[in-house]
Amino acid sequence: MRSLSEASAGVIPGARAIFTSRSGLSSVGKEGASRDAFGDFNLGLHVGDEDAAVRENRRLLSAYLGAPVAFVNQTHSARVIEVGKDWDFSAVHDADALVTTRRDVALAIMVADCMPVLLADTQAGVAAAVHAGRVGFLGEILPAAVSEMLRRGARPENMRALIGPSMCGSCYEVPQQMHDQAVAQVPQLTARTARGTHALDLRAGARAQLAAAGLAESAINDSYPCTGEDRDYFSYRRENVTGRFVGAIRLL
Ligand SMILES: [Zn+2]
Repeated sequence: MRSLSEASAGVIPGARAIFTSRSGLSSVGKEGASRDAFGDFNLGLHVGDEDAAVRENRRLLSAYLGAPVAFVNQTHSARVIEVGKDWDFSAVHDADALVTTRRDVALAIMVADCMPVLLADTQAGVAAAVHAGRVGFLGEILPAAVSEMLRRGARPENMRALIGPSMCGSCYEVPQQMHDQAVAQVPQLTARTARGTHALDLRAGARAQLAAAGLAESAINDSYPCTGEDRDYFSYRRENVTGRFVGAIRLL
């Protein structure tokens, strides 16, 4: 069974980067506390799951990462927020990307089809976690996060990126007008479903934006499963009432 996708082994040396899944932390012998549609490792509050179960799952995640985990209230914006030394873990922060130079915190982005992107320059000691659905992507959240990393000393040639489990270009069907508007902005987004209808390939768009920012192609990993096809991941589009998994990263 696939469980916690431990992406750290050699992929981003100097960081611990993970994408959780529905079956959560089973790879380290931990069962999540959520049940039914949220089972067993939902990390999203306010999706209809029991708060106590979510808090227990977040506690397990934090223990696994060895650091408190910073979450944000995601609004499909292009707002990047810094997790600085005064970060208040109990406050609500509206943002769709987090950046930090701290080694004693982990950054988390919650998704269920939207694209989670983890970035790090571990030489400079800068990391980011980005929530890029269609709206945030077209709002340029990803370039915004990269530029906040550069401002803190990251260098594109030393950065690595993980484009996590999300809807693939064959599954993310959209109306033709939506497709055409998006592709006018970022041509690499164009895709078709197996039935030949219009779709968007956000991963291809992300690769293009990261390459334009100066990342080497070999430093970008997007070989994670499609949430629309792999039932080990929560999928809002497939299930509607469902949980959230996370992409999380911590500098070591
Ligand atoms: Zn797919």
